[in-house]
Amino acid sequence: MMKYIYPFEEGNKDMRQLLGGKGANLAQMTNLGLPVPSGFTISTEACNAFYENHNQLSDDLLDQIHRAIAALSAKVGKTFNSSTAPLLVSVRSGAAISMPGMMDTILNIGLNDQTVIALANLTANERFAYDSYRRLLAMFGNVVYGISEATFDGVIEKRKADQGYQSDLDLTVNDLQEIVSEFKAIYQKELNHEFPQDPTDQLMAAINSVFESWNNHRAQVYRRENDIPSDLGTAVNVQMMVFGNAGEDSGTGVAFTRDPATGKKQLFGEYLLNAQGEDVVAGIRTPQPIETLRSSMPHLYDQFATIAEKLELHYRDMQDLEFTIENGKLYMLQARNGKRTPTAAVKIAVDLVSEKLISKQEAIMRIKPESVQAILYPEFDEQALAENKIVASGLPASPGAATGQIYFTAESAKKAHDDQHRKVILIRQDTSPEDIEGMVVSEAIVTSRGGMTSHAAVVARGMGTPATVGVNGLQVNYQTKTATISGNQLHEGDWLSVDGTHGNLYLGQIKTTDLTVNDDLATLLDWAKDEARLGVYANADTPKDFAQALNFGADGIGLARTEHMFFKPERLLEMRRLIIAEDAEGRKTPLKRLLEMQRGDFYELYKLSKGRSVTIRLLDPPLHEFLPHDEKEIKAVAAQLEIDPDYLAQRVDALKELNPMLGHRGDRLAVTFPDIYQMQIQAIMGAALQLLDEGIIIEPHIMIPLTDSKAEMSWVRDLVVNQIEDLFDAHNAKLEYTVGTMMEMPRACLTADKVAEVSDFFSFGTNDLTQLTFGYSRDDVGSFMPAYIKEGILPADPFQTVDVEGVGALMKMAVDKGRFTKPQLPIGVCGEIGGDPKSIHFFEAIGVTYVSCSPFRVPVARLAAAQAHL
Ligand code: PEP
Ligand code: MG
Repeated sequence: MMKYIYPFEEGNKDMRQLLGGKGANLAQMTNLGLPVPSGFTISTEACNAFYENHNQLSDDLLDQIHRAIAALSAKVGKTFNSSTAPLLVSVRSGAAISMPGMMDTILNIGLNDQTVIALANLTANERFAYDSYRRLLAMFGNVVYGISEATFDGVIEKRKADQGYQSDLDLTVNDLQEIVSEFKAIYQKELNHEFPQDPTDQLMAAINSVFESWNNHRAQVYRRENDIPSDLGTAVNVQMMVFGNAGEDSGTGVAFTRDPATGKKQLFGEYLLNAQGEDVVAGIRTPQPIETLRSSMPHLYDQFATIAEKLELHYRDMQDLEFTIENGKLYMLQARNGKRTPTAAVKIAVDLVSEKLISKQEAIMRIKPESVQAILYPEFDEQALAENKIVASGLPASPGAATGQIYFTAESAKKAHDDQHRKVILIRQDTSPEDIEGMVVSEAIVTSRGGMTSHAAVVARGMGTPATVGVNGLQVNYQTKTATISGNQLHEGDWLSVDGTHGNLYLGQIKTTDLTVNDDLATLLDWAKDEARLGVYANADTPKDFAQALNFGADGIGLARTEHMFFKPERLLEMRRLIIAEDAEGRKTPLKRLLEMQRGDFYELYKLSKGRSVTIRLLDPPLHEFLPHDEKEIKAVAAQLEIDPDYLAQRVDALKELNPMLGHRGDRLAVTFPDIYQMQIQAIMGAALQLLDEGIIIEPHIMIPLTDSKAEMSWVRDLVVNQIEDLFDAHNAKLEYTVGTMMEMPRACLTADKVAEVSDFFSFGTNDLTQLTFGYSRDDVGSFMPAYIKEGILPADPFQTVDVEGVGALMKMAVDKGRFTKPQLPIGVCGEIGGDPKSIHFFEAIGVTYVSCSPFRVPVARLAAAQAHL
């Protein structure tokens, strides 16, 4: 017989896989001697067995549950159906990886028409007993039978309206008894049967539903979004109830040991007196900050603060705690590593290192590389902000600033985002797990109700999406699809700007700033640099991009695409003059002018580099990319160049190619128009020699694109080297320099041992290499790639994540062959996937020397490189 059930005393924190995160932590807390209500966990294996058994609890499992309940009864001295000491339990889901709010929970199992009286007598609190019972009826009806929450809420709202009440707390015993009757009538009406009075039946149905909730739609969406495997299953925790709604000396709350938005070290949380768990997270009543507990119940606050500290030391991480106070006694219901914003994650990791709780290596491993992109949060541009007035404020639930068009339902937000490619802002009274799909696509989230731990706040922080919640002066009307913000009426699709860092809203659109690296991230990136073997360079071709990249910690430039420098208007004109010239003589004047401009560009980049390596690639794209194409354009350009439009049309036609990406581009241009590469060499070396005159030594790295063979590389290399040597002679000076090749043609990879004989370094151009290995045009994949991924023909877009099996095999072969010829050969990756964390693990494994990626991905790549090496 398989063991499916573990009393809390038998588990520990290392049993997450089997007991789920919640179960493992309840067990751990129990064993730490903390005040945890007794209970047991039904394992994730039981969940998987449940699915194998056609969504039924097996006889074996039923039997084990009966015995576990009997043992629990004996331990706590309470039994199901007892008229003197009734046992009430909660039934909660809990997977190995936390999925907040995605699966179901039922509280107060064990209440029925008899035990509600017993509970009232026992606690001398009738109101509390009926309040608990109506909660069970609603939760059970919703979770087990799918009756909508609104059906139950409607009854309460109607009663409150009829009686003129403001809050749920105004409901009297009599009201609650009436509500219980009406709730029971809903069962009859909707299901044609009674609410099950037998606690054991309730328990089994609840367990059944929690197992089933593992596969509900929102849980599936969440798992997809977060890469959580769907065969883990959820555990179920059955635990004796303690009551936060037993009177004014009772309450319930959630707290983090550090601020989950900023990472600041201070107890951070909220509680509600005379309330049950769901009230705090549901955002229906606005809770009190935990600080106020210090004055209202100092003894409990101290006890809680001590436990919080103990748990943080024990788990060596920020904790998310749930607690309940029952008649002045504190109980811990949950401890788990708290969800946090990427900003907080980095600050906490860095702080825990200085508090000597974790090592630098652990700090690096705790941060998801992609998440740091979100730390480089945009803020609103200060000047633009000064011209706008704050229209309303709420709680700063998740930092960052964003502008977008407002939508009131997850569905309409998703539709506007998917179909019309709009930047959307989801604006709601409050959010619930059903809204997840709309939240994922939103630039920002705004709610009128709820606190810092409301669903909207927690989920937005987890996703790194700016959010302002509990906004005063915001009314949302779902029927008319309008919102009123401090008297201003907004309609669906109107623009709104949200500052989640400070909790402010502005009407209209506001410009956001460039991104920056904060001190904590800079510290972490420094540590990552020490731990990584791979270097991280930037693909940058302007001083502005390079400066940004350096700000993000780049080691230098791994790829400067020189053609990008030709697209400014006055340069384009000279480039066009160059291309339409029919011979070397005609190319002389435009080349001379371009030389001056390029020399200036390289001078700037070298100056900024302060000794860091800069790799400059010679001209790559097909020439006709620079030429006008339609008649109108040709006419205009001909006028600019002061030539005959017919002649220009003829030249454009002559340069036209059927497959330009496979055509006259890259080093093929060097063979037919050597003077272009010679000009670029003069510009590069001219800039370096100019700096030499100023006392700054530069070692130029020159990269040849599109090489196929040793013979071709050798030809181009001779061209380059001869030109350089001529310049050195003329200048009477010398500099160290290297001439390497892009590895982006499959043939070059297949013959890398030979190509290496005439190359000082390799750098994989994975964009072209992927294009040519698959035979996919990199500019046209949009038409079929999504279908290939959806059908599972490709696991991912190979232009975003390396195709290990095919492209990866070619790369590995090229690395091995290249190093066979030159053991010390430096080898980089400068295609788009150079900044992709998964790909970086592969590059580490095959022995690549460095990666190069867009400036914003530098911090991501740096962390991934460190993690790949650790
Ligand atoms: C590449 O092909 O991967 C590359 C870096 O060059 P480009 O994208 O400029 O063709
Ligand atoms: Mg390329």
